[in-house]
Amino acid sequence: IDSNLVGKFIATSERSHDAIFLRTPSGKRLSYRDLWNDVAAYRAALDAHGVQSGDRVMVQVEKSPEAISLYLATLSAGAAFVPLNTGYTEAELRHFLTDAAPRLFIADPARRSDLTALARGCGVDRVETLGMDGSGSLPEAAATAPASLSIEPCGPDHIAAILYTSGTTGRPKGAMLTHRNLGANAEALCVAWEITGRDVLLHALPIFHAHGLFVAINTTLLAGAGLIFLPKFEVDVVLQALPEATTMMGVPTFYTRLLDDPRFDAAATAHMRLFVSGSAPLLENTFHAFRECTGRAILERYGMTETGMNTSNPLHGERKAGSIGPALPGVEVRVADDAGRALGTGKVGVLEVRGPNVFRGYWNMPERTAEDFRQDGFFITGDLARIDPEAYVWLVGRAKDLIITGGYNVYPKEVEVCLDALPGIRESAVIGVPDSDFGEAVVAVVVADDPAQPPVAEALVSELRSSLARYKLPKRIVFVDNLPRNTMGKVQKNLLRDAIAGN
Ligand code: ATP
Ligand code: MG
Repeated sequence: IDSNLVGKFIATSERSHDAIFLRTPSGKRLSYRDLWNDVAAYRAALDAHGVQSGDRVMVQVEKSPEAISLYLATLSAGAAFVPLNTGYTEAELRHFLTDAAPRLFIADPARRSDLTALARGCGVDRVETLGMDGSGSLPEAAATAPASLSIEPCGPDHIAAILYTSGTTGRPKGAMLTHRNLGANAEALCVAWEITGRDVLLHALPIFHAHGLFVAINTTLLAGAGLIFLPKFEVDVVLQALPEATTMMGVPTFYTRLLDDPRFDAAATAHMRLFVSGSAPLLENTFHAFRECTGRAILERYGMTETGMNTSNPLHGERKAGSIGPALPGVEVRVADDAGRALGTGKVGVLEVRGPNVFRGYWNMPERTAEDFRQDGFFITGDLARIDPEAYVWLVGRAKDLIITGGYNVYPKEVEVCLDALPGIRESAVIGVPDSDFGEAVVAVVVADDPAQPPVAEALVSELRSSLARYKLPKRIVFVDNLPRNTMGKVQKNLLRDAIAGN
């Protein structure tokens, strides 16, 4: 049987052709019928470029409804969709073009001539454009839609997309995701979060990342639901759009920014069914402040580019602040030691996952792929965690951020949670910096509630003494106005380490 994910999506939308798939604040409305017409048109444009099953189509474009049609058209052809962060510079782009060797590269119209030259230099001859307003050479080529969309049959392990990881711990790696991976994860999320055709998702995330593209859009398509499609997160626009939505997905900074606005309150959210957070840790402070403000608990879930979503706090049942919840249906999680032996409840180790959501491997990196999988098929996430007696998973930091000081392990999250709970502290990032005595020294980088009047460092450390063993106490506290974050709200600890080790 054919496993092309697009076939699954179309089977849902056939039940509701007239339903609205996408609406924008400027009043644009796209029914499911319109969507599939557009997909057929983009598919014809891809065919005209000779895009075939197994090829890659790389895109670095601003968020637009047309980009979704292009995504679906690429999958329908059996080709792999390779979206890139719009922030990548030309030097970075050169690496991705060479690495992925796409048949076709689609760029922003304003950068056409520069990027055409750059792509040619990387052996990529075909460059087209697509702008955030839907203009460009690709939409022009897609102006006439054929009568129907043909779907290239493929097996379940056929690659649907290559997504590069965020590059938080090193150079981004291309994760090969199959039609089965994406389908299984969308199904698990629709079940876990009870997403139906009556839902309307407020979408303010970028669509070059797994969160905004797969978690948000694949679930919507699979359920035949609707999207309110915002070009980016802006508090005013989100507050205006919220009344029409039933669900929202965001990174933690979306929620802190909403909480900073006095218009965001219980009344503004009373009609909402679900707020989901992920991509970066949701601070316990934020979870509690949100509950105080709205009477609701944000649902936090955990995933990776390589795996899609692995765990989620429950829709019904307790959502624990600071936990990422139990494994999703069909996903197995375990905490293991360095040799891959499962550890007992409450023990900290490396989080490993297995399931139909777990990717096929890293593009062009067979050795790295082999290193990151156990013999029995578990993928080593690189995140450190423990599992509580109720099977909820608690992340304690990334393995790469683990601090070893004087021979002792310090899990940054444990220190951060204690610091964040102290009065006058907004948030913190705990890192290890090279130290001649201890190997690494624990350093806390702290954002004060009032940056003009930060708390006294010595007082903070002595407060921590009651909850943390001596070796976990920060040797130094550095106050900053903001933590450096990437577009997905992830704290860039490598930048902090460089900045602090360098002075
Ligand atoms: P790279 O792998 O290139 O270093 P990255 O791991 O940040 O970058 P992504 O795949 O975008 O790239 O992010 C996955 C990571 O995000 C997870 O491994 C985890 O560390 C973090 N993450 C995702 N969801 C959560 C969450 N709810 N709480 C804490 N961390 C999360
Ligand atoms: Mg990663």
